[in-house]
Amino acid sequence: MIMPNMDPKKCPMPSQDPNVRNKNFKEVALGYTAEMAVNEAQRCLQCKNHPCRSGCPVDIDIPGFIAHVAKGEFEEAYKVIAQSSALPAVCGRVCPQENQCEGKCVRGIKGEPVGIGRLERFVADWYRENVHTKPEKPTPNGHKVAVIGAGPSGLTVAGDLAKMGYQVTVYEALHVAGGVLMYGIPEFRLPKDIVQHEVEGLKELGVDIECNMVIGKVLTIDELMNDYGFEAVYIASGAGLPRFMGIPGESLNGVYSANEYLTRVNLMKAYLPESHTPIMKSRAVAVVGGGNVAMDAARCAKRLGAETVYIVYRRGMAELPARKEEVEHAEEEGIIFKTLTNPVEVLGDENGWVKGMTCVEMELGEPDESGRRRPIVKEGSEFELDVDTMIMALGTSPNPLIRSTTPGLDADRHGCLITNGPDGLTSRPFVYAGGDAVTGAATVILAMGAGKEAAKAIDKAIKEKEQ
Ligand code: SF4
Ligand code: SF4
Repeated sequence: MIMPNMDPKKCPMPSQDPNVRNKNFKEVALGYTAEMAVNEAQRCLQCKNHPCRSGCPVDIDIPGFIAHVAKGEFEEAYKVIAQSSALPAVCGRVCPQENQCEGKCVRGIKGEPVGIGRLERFVADWYRENVHTKPEKPTPNGHKVAVIGAGPSGLTVAGDLAKMGYQVTVYEALHVAGGVLMYGIPEFRLPKDIVQHEVEGLKELGVDIECNMVIGKVLTIDELMNDYGFEAVYIASGAGLPRFMGIPGESLNGVYSANEYLTRVNLMKAYLPESHTPIMKSRAVAVVGGGNVAMDAARCAKRLGAETVYIVYRRGMAELPARKEEVEHAEEEGIIFKTLTNPVEVLGDENGWVKGMTCVEMELGEPDESGRRRPIVKEGSEFELDVDTMIMALGTSPNPLIRSTTPGLDADRHGCLITNGPDGLTSRPFVYAGGDAVTGAATVILAMGAGKEAAKAIDKAIKEKEQ
């Protein structure tokens, strides 16, 4: 029996120096060595009631895989993780572990929790680099399911159903699979070759991925079910419709939605000299919003060469919805936080380009219906901020295309599809939905959790129909 390592602190993650990394798009965190991983795994107490596991939306056997890491059995550790997660290298990098598995770890009571995400990342990376055997193809069960969208939710449902023997076709609107993992999250947080490696693993399981297929335009859900023989459809089309503030000047040149900005940078690689995608070479950038997407956009703008990058957020530092780690990384890289500040107008020059913005200062009042203190405008506090680019990172809603081409599919007033709860069944029989298309923009791991539940529900419904 190995004695636990009682160090109250996690083994630190090696990472690039802030002043080096804010000029390149290479990954910030460099990952554990095998020695660090074993050392960190030995901090796990192997709790019998494993509270950490209840914090994982895809129910990974956390003490199970960590026990293998502690003994240096990395391949066995991978096999434990792979039973529950189709995208371990992704989750280990982008899961908000502090609110999920690590938020429940008992080691967090008197010190720092076990670095579960870092260990998961290590295991997935080790496996990718060292093991090259292809997975066995499951025996076909003769049933067909279509998935709309090859993001984290769609890929999870596809992987789980394929393992059960279903013939799964994933229809992806973009030219490459991965969804928000490809167009939304920057290379320096999630390298794109890692995403593509995980996608290839699903293809090896027999999942068919059809890119450049906009469901609702090229084919409808009714055509998939009536003409193409799919017995069930899972809608995982995400939330790609950006929100704007509705203030004067938002249509000026130099105002981007974060979605457009990040897609140009991440998916179209606008930072490479050979890229065909234009993007502004900005001098001073204001990113409006305080979530993870705002941090990503600001850090990309800095790497693209902007001298000054502001995060403009109407509440205070304590209320920023972004992960603490992302805020710290942004601060280290030189992003300036203008909190308790709200834009009221974008100012343009005579050629229609952004030349600044008028802002007001805010103060926090009583809590509103979200439980957060309501921001109130400070009288006479108007001032101008000198910027030539504005990026709106105010959240996104689901694109209306699918619901407008699928009769009987109910959505709420925000355009989010309505489901019966965890199963993900929509108002149409055998049509399921999950991820951001249902919740509005949320996290990768919640989208994956919804995919897992829906895969079980789809399997059950198809088997019941058969009887
Ligand atoms: Fe934690 Fe996310 Fe891994 Fe689950 S998938 S164990 S929540 S890092
Ligand atoms: Fe290990 Fe923490 Fe889970 Fe306990 S709660 S089994 S210490 S990871």
